[in-house]
Amino acid sequence: MKPIAIVGMGLAGACTAWQLWRRGAKFRIIDSGRRGSSHVAAGLVHPVTGKNCTVADDFAMHRDEAQQFYHECESVVKEQIWFPLEVLRLLSLSEQKKLLPKFQTGPAVEWVKQIFVDDRWPDDVAIALKGGARLDVVAFLQTSRVFFSSLGLLEEREFTGPSDGEITIMCEGAQGLMWGSPIPWQHRCAKGEILTVHAPSWQQSRMITGRGWLVPIGDDCYKVGATYEWNELDDEPTAVGLLYLESIARNLGGDDYTIRVHDAGIRPILRKSQPVAGAISPDVYVLNGLGSKGSLSAPWASRCLVEHLLEGVPLHSRLSLENYFATVGRPA
Ligand SMILES: Cc1cc2nc3c(=O)[nH]c(=O)nc-3n(C[C@H](O)[C@H](O)[C@H](O)COP(=O)(O)OP(=O)(O)OC[C@H]3O[C@@H](n4cnc5c(N)ncnc54)[C@H](O)[C@@H]3O)c2cc1C
Repeated sequence: MKPIAIVGMGLAGACTAWQLWRRGAKFRIIDSGRRGSSHVAAGLVHPVTGKNCTVADDFAMHRDEAQQFYHECESVVKEQIWFPLEVLRLLSLSEQKKLLPKFQTGPAVEWVKQIFVDDRWPDDVAIALKGGARLDVVAFLQTSRVFFSSLGLLEEREFTGPSDGEITIMCEGAQGLMWGSPIPWQHRCAKGEILTVHAPSWQQSRMITGRGWLVPIGDDCYKVGATYEWNELDDEPTAVGLLYLESIARNLGGDDYTIRVHDAGIRPILRKSQPVAGAISPDVYVLNGLGSKGSLSAPWASRCLVEHLLEGVPLHSRLSLENYFATVGRPA
């Protein structure tokens, strides 16, 4: 087996590195040190997503794999990065007729703990869900960086091109989909803005979703998010984004808070937050398109790619680059 170079150390590259390290493969990581979207991500994992309260059919499988994967990382780096959390999904009056049945008889039922009215939002129906978690993405990346640096496996520099006799795995995130790739990706990358606030009076231990979201991150701090913007793809926080995020903060938390950080990043999206992996030339592979659910899917996607490279296991059809090209058209 040829040695492997991983380009990029966001969630995709870091998970791939752990998968290779656990299997004793020879590899190195090349990362520019520029902040990717992983440094902005809230790391939320929850079973019921989107305006239509959808439960992905592979959620349970991916969640179990992600939890075990991050726990194994924790046992090496000796720091907690995975935090199980109860989720409270709020349904407004106008949503209840359409969406409440999904929690009573539909696919979301297995995740429901309780349906009730919370004093804080008396006009809503509140649905307490199990299966939620938060990955502390920044801690995961920082501890991974320290660990792989200590083994001499991390090179902090810009990637300048594949080396002969080496397999390259491109994990560049949105940067790799928007600029400088040999493939004209049909991406749907979306800018997102997010707040970190300090709010001792909120005393909230659950992740609150519906009309945006809010999640406790410890020390009376919370992340509040997030915006979606498909046209202005830069990583600058905006005044419009701030107004929107503050309305979520007031609605889900309360008026009493101070803003610690207002941040922005670009989610790498190829097809509805489904990642894509495979060969773009004989010795160059890609793992990208983690979308808004990278914390959940990166352990699975990186394992599939690594098993494909080391053991010849066919890539899962949902992940395969070939299948992606079959749906969007192969580039010339
Ligand atoms: C506001 C916001 C909120 C989010 N919330 C969540 C959430 O709650 N849950 C969730 O699961 N996901 C969330 N996401 C999505 C999550 O951030 C992504 O799924 C994930 O971070 C993508 O990881 P990545 O490794 O593909 O890309 P990135 O994190 O962008 O990493 C790419 C890395 O590659 C490096 N790189 C790129 N090109 C080169 C090069 N040529 N040479 C060397 N290095 C290079 C970059 O420096 C970077 O370190 C959110 C995203 C945003 C913007």
